[in-house]
Amino acid sequence: MGSPPEMSEELDTVWEPCGGCWGQRVIWTRTPGAGAMERRACPSCLGVGQRAVVVTGPARRDARAA
Ligand SMILES: [Zn+2]
Repeated sequence: MGSPPEMSEELDTVWEPCGGCWGQRVIWTRTPGAGAMERRACPSCLGVGQRAVVVTGPARRDARAA
């Protein structure tokens, strides 16, 4: 298992699941009194389900090693 070649300088972009909707892209809300669930687009990721996070090379290695 070798380390990948360092193509870029220090920055890297990774996608992590949205914590607001847990990657479901939508949020279901139950209206009091009504039996139905209402479906709404997640306001945190705007319906994408993932968020782009920019990390640096050293930080990424530290996170991976920890
Ligand atoms: Zn979301």
